[in-house]
Amino acid sequence: MYRLSIVAEKTENAILLFDKRGNLMWVNKAFERIYGCTYKEFTKKRGRNLIDSSQNPDIKLIIEKCYKEKIAVKYSVENTVKSGKKIWIQTTLSPIFDADNEIEMVVAIESDITRLKFAESQIAEQLEQIKHQHELLRKQNSELLLYRNRLEDIVKERTKELEIAKNKAEESDRLKSAFLANMSHEIRTPLNAIIGFSDLLSNLKDKQRIDEYVHIIQQSGFRLLDLINDIIDISKIEAGQLKYHEDIVDIKKLLGELYDFYKQRAKAKGINLVVEKTSGSTSVTILSDKLKLYQVLSNLISNAIKFTDFGSVRVYYQITGAFIEFHVQDTGIGIPKDKHKLIFDRFRQIEHLNRVNQGGTGLGLALSKSFVEFLGGEISVKSVSGKGADFFFTIPYIPADKIPVAQNMSFENIADLSSKTVLIAEDDESNYILLEVLLSETKIKTLRAKDGAEAIKLYEKYRPDIILMDVRMDGMDGYTAAKRIKMINSNVPIIAQTAFAMEQDREEALKNACDDYIAKPITRDKLIGLIIKYIAG
Ligand code: ADP
Repeated sequence: MYRLSIVAEKTENAILLFDKRGNLMWVNKAFERIYGCTYKEFTKKRGRNLIDSSQNPDIKLIIEKCYKEKIAVKYSVENTVKSGKKIWIQTTLSPIFDADNEIEMVVAIESDITRLKFAESQIAEQLEQIKHQHELLRKQNSELLLYRNRLEDIVKERTKELEIAKNKAEESDRLKSAFLANMSHEIRTPLNAIIGFSDLLSNLKDKQRIDEYVHIIQQSGFRLLDLINDIIDISKIEAGQLKYHEDIVDIKKLLGELYDFYKQRAKAKGINLVVEKTSGSTSVTILSDKLKLYQVLSNLISNAIKFTDFGSVRVYYQITGAFIEFHVQDTGIGIPKDKHKLIFDRFRQIEHLNRVNQGGTGLGLALSKSFVEFLGGEISVKSVSGKGADFFFTIPYIPADKIPVAQNMSFENIADLSSKTVLIAEDDESNYILLEVLLSETKIKTLRAKDGAEAIKLYEKYRPDIILMDVRMDGMDGYTAAKRIKMINSNVPIIAQTAFAMEQDREEALKNACDDYIAKPITRDKLIGLIIKYIAG
């Protein structure tokens, strides 16, 4: 017993003894240290009874359990001690029994677990933080995963694009080589004919032979001209310099010209060329760019004849609402379905079974597509391999019937210009003769200068009414001369003669003191039209 009382005295824990009803009977020293008050002060404040003084209903139940069920119980509760400080107390209540096994006393052993609780709450807080960080990391991780997946997708996409670009570059390289090979063939063939046959001509006397050879030379010349025109057109398209020239287009006349041009070629191959010059019973006149329309139809008819060995080529058109639709149908070798789109690419030629390459540059359809789209329409083909092809395209249908025809100037009753004088600055003899012949029916007087300096001199001396100025001449060029003449008389009309019908030529001419321009080859109608425009009346 003595030992027990020493333990009770020395222990850090508070020991409290309650009687069988829960009344506090005794406390040890440690109790005073923990609670900061004496037994008396404690009971005065809280009352003596353990059960009654308990304020927390859950704890009260636990305490009652100890008394009712006669078992030891344990609980923790926060207490405010005398100093006002809050402490956490963990209590173990153990019943002590009498000889009849009834509760005689209850011993409470209490320990101050405030630090433990504090540590616990800190751990909980840190756990919470860790959880939070974990959650953040999880989120970042899933974002990273997302980025990684996106990056992988982008890399895949880019790789695919690069692959396509690489294939395209290789393909375009291959096409360009094929184009160059073809081009050199296309240039050499007519050139060989021109050189070869003109050589033969010099020793020939037989008129029929001469005519035959001249015809071949002319055809070869035209073939070369077509090629050069195609290349110029492609470069114009490439440079974005395609310009729209509005004309009044008489479809019947246009198709008639095409028929006249191709009938021989079709006949030579034994093909029937059928050109329907009217839609139903009427011919139509529309507003469009005549040259481009002609070129598209010409390309399609030329291809149709080229790729048809038997049967016919039929050209017709119909008006479909706001559009006019042209068809060039043939009974030739046809085009496999998978090539229908490809053939409209530049330099693209397809290999036809059992057929040698028939020349060409692979530019015709690409040009036609660009022109049709430029005119505001679409081009397409329907074809089955071996069963002919139907190339068709649309352009806007703008009827020109009601528009006054200012362009269709007739020179039947041509103005008499015998009272006027034209100064022609032209260094090339044959070009000068051509101009003189073309102008002769107007009876206009002509003066000739062989370079710019002479043109100025002649102008000063004779004061002609109009000047046709060749732009490129040996000695002083045409533009310099034009500027000087305009300084003498700013009212004299000067028309520049340029080599090509390039758009910038017109602008260049207007910039350089000229009033207008005319492109070579110069035709009668164009030339007389311009002269009349500036000096008649
Ligand atoms: P080119 O005629 O100079 O080869 P195109 O661009 O006009 O160039 O035509 C491209 C290719 O389309 C031709 O090489 C030919 O393979 C095919 N093609 C064009 N028109 C026809 C047609 N009427 N019938 C069959 N194939 C055609």
